[in-house]
Amino acid sequence: MTHGRAQDFTPTRTAGLERLSQFIPRAGSAYARMRNHDLGAGQHAHVSTLSPWIRHRLVTEAEVLDAVLARHSLTAAEKFVQEVYWRTYWKGWLEQRPAVWEMYQQGLRAALDQVQTQSGLRSTWADACTGQTGIDAFDHWAQELVQTGYLHNHARMWFASIWIFTLRLPWELGADFFLRHLLDGDPASNTLSWRWVAGLQTRGKTYLARADNIETYTGGRFRPKGLAGVAVPLEGPEVPRVPLPAPQMPGLMEPCALLLHDDDLSPAYLFDHGLAPVATACLVTTRDRSPLHVAPHLEEFVQGAMADVTTRWADRLGPLTPALSGVGALADWARATGARQVVTPYAPVGPNATALRALEAALAPDGIRLVRLQRRYDSAAWPQATAGFFKFKEKIPTLVAGLKGIGVV
Ligand SMILES: Cc1cc2nc3c(=O)[nH]c(=O)nc-3n(C[C@H](O)[C@H](O)[C@H](O)COP(=O)(O)OP(=O)(O)OC[C@H]3O[C@@H](n4cnc5c(N)ncnc54)[C@H](O)[C@@H]3O)c2cc1C
Repeated sequence: MTHGRAQDFTPTRTAGLERLSQFIPRAGSAYARMRNHDLGAGQHAHVSTLSPWIRHRLVTEAEVLDAVLARHSLTAAEKFVQEVYWRTYWKGWLEQRPAVWEMYQQGLRAALDQVQTQSGLRSTWADACTGQTGIDAFDHWAQELVQTGYLHNHARMWFASIWIFTLRLPWELGADFFLRHLLDGDPASNTLSWRWVAGLQTRGKTYLARADNIETYTGGRFRPKGLAGVAVPLEGPEVPRVPLPAPQMPGLMEPCALLLHDDDLSPAYLFDHGLAPVATACLVTTRDRSPLHVAPHLEEFVQGAMADVTTRWADRLGPLTPALSGVGALADWARATGARQVVTPYAPVGPNATALRALEAALAPDGIRLVRLQRRYDSAAWPQATAGFFKFKEKIPTLVAGLKGIGVV
């Protein structure tokens, strides 16, 4: 089977902007009509395939919205704009329920333990990950994901549904399989979408993959047999909402070091705050996306993206440490810079946020502050992500109107 290659996703801002400008003409009514059709690897022209760049903010959500709305009215591009805001909504929702990410990680560790001791589970899981279940569509998507690092949204929904309700595998193992391979693998969008399919996110509402729907939206390529006919929702505890963190500001008179990470690789907004770092480092946590090995194409994408951003901004960064992992190495670097504060783009719930918490604790005795700078795009939208997307969606016109004040950073 031949697929488009992961290299189609070049980890540079230039490549992301080119993809965006190619896609813009199709972001209006064509997207609304055709976005659910998955015609296979190399044929994803009905959607933007921008997610690897947006996920790492080589190109930001605000830039994408700005460019699309310069060409289309909000009414014409409503569906596309809503999809971009799904990412924002998921992030804001998880930010207010960080325990859901911890529960996912615990559930994953428990499922990986079961895999060690239950041979039947182990072989079903291995067959699902290598695309050898005998369900042709599912096997195709498993291989497409492993080979390209991308799957169409509809394929992700069908895949997750078959994983949970037909193969009856723990959903956390499926979410982990995605996080190890997706170039856009994202704690919020991934965990919460898997929970949504499983019936954990919108209580009692599951997503059932159906052969006729798959046939219609794959251009007749697949009509899988033997799929589960019902999707009984999984059960899990309700998680209380916690307040969003208060905004932080850097002290502009104090020397600062800059710590970049893969949740936000567009540092222009930091420089707009007047930051002039004495030194810069890149925090690398790609391997912390999973307890298992992450795909080489994922590590290459993130390394390439970091090389791209640090090359473009070289004259603003000071001496550069291109890759740091582990709290000890990070704290040593921060102390050696002589800075009194480490400024970093705000990292939403996930491996970077976890690493930053450890760093903050390690630096506190030295009186070095960690300052997480939020974007106005996030701080405007996240407080709206309190309940379901339906309620959040109503705020989109106001949020979009507010983008004008944000510019394209
Ligand atoms: C089970 C499952 C797991 C998923 N895991 C991830 C993940 O790890 N990372 C991730 O970025 N997305 C995830 N998604 C959401 C969605 O499938 C992808 O964002 C989308 O397919 C990316 O392709 P695109 O850029 O061509 O999207 P387009 O259709 O062109 O949409 C434009 C942009 O809107 C955003 N977007 C679109 N759909 C969604 C959505 N449903 N949720 C959140 N943002 C969306 C993305 O930033 C995308 O780049 C998952 C969906 C499901 C059902």
